[in-house]
Amino acid sequence: MPSAGLRPLLRHFAVSAIALRHRVLPPTGVPHDEPRVHVLLCHGVEPEEERQFERFLDWLALQYQIVSYSDAVDRLLQNQVDAPYLAITFDDGLASCLTASKVLQRRGLSGCFFVCPEMIEGQPPSHLRDSPDGPMPAYLDWKGIDTLHDRGQEVGSHTMSHPNLAGLGREQLLHELGRSRDIITQRYGDCEHFAWPFGRFADFSQEAARAVFELGYRSCASGVRGCLQPTTDLDPPAVCIYRDNVEMRWPMSHARYFIERSARQPIAADATWPGDWRDALELPMPRSW
Ligand SMILES: [Zn+2]
Repeated sequence: MPSAGLRPLLRHFAVSAIALRHRVLPPTGVPHDEPRVHVLLCHGVEPEEERQFERFLDWLALQYQIVSYSDAVDRLLQNQVDAPYLAITFDDGLASCLTASKVLQRRGLSGCFFVCPEMIEGQPPSHLRDSPDGPMPAYLDWKGIDTLHDRGQEVGSHTMSHPNLAGLGREQLLHELGRSRDIITQRYGDCEHFAWPFGRFADFSQEAARAVFELGYRSCASGVRGCLQPTTDLDPPAVCIYRDNVEMRWPMSHARYFIERSARQPIAADATWPGDWRDALELPMPRSW
């Protein structure tokens, strides 16, 4: 087992090798114009990464219509995906979201920033403080989140305190999902979108997924890689938004590799939840908890 310090390095070289092979031997049949909704999961753009982010957006714009997250969700839910659409999201409310929002605003684009009210008002939890990748990053306060909103960006909930939601009881779910939605709604007028921390299905539960929609969120986002294809018999709100994680500190070939890989295998929007979760999500939702 490689040490914690060595692991990111090994991962870097492995993805570089795969991405290089991918460029030297381009796969056939990349569906550049096939209708789909692709959502990216980022964390921030450091000031020195601004040029990289600009180039990345230029590359994305060659093959996608870049739309707001609300637009992407609406198109998926209303079966109005007639072209390749892409939306950009940022998790955790890092201070480096300010650079991202500045670039997006300059281009007339809107991203969605998923934030945790308890982290905005206090300390991030220890699992975000003790990063193996280096010193603790800076997080935005409410003034910083106001700036994102003033720049035309959307604000969504990423829970109150960034816990692992798997195994949490109803009261705790109500606090993490419901209270965060109330606080963000009071501040910005709405909070329609939710993204769960850590992003894997193992970090979530059927109960939590159902609670998201019962509480009135319009969308629920994971960190599972992939892009989505509309289906004619989609029964809202049973959609899990998949997102491809890309970071501007990575070589651009890595981000391109992950995006192109997902684009080749779009997933039907009505098959995004684990099979045994779907029944619970398709039951009629109560008006409120
Ligand atoms: Zn997070």
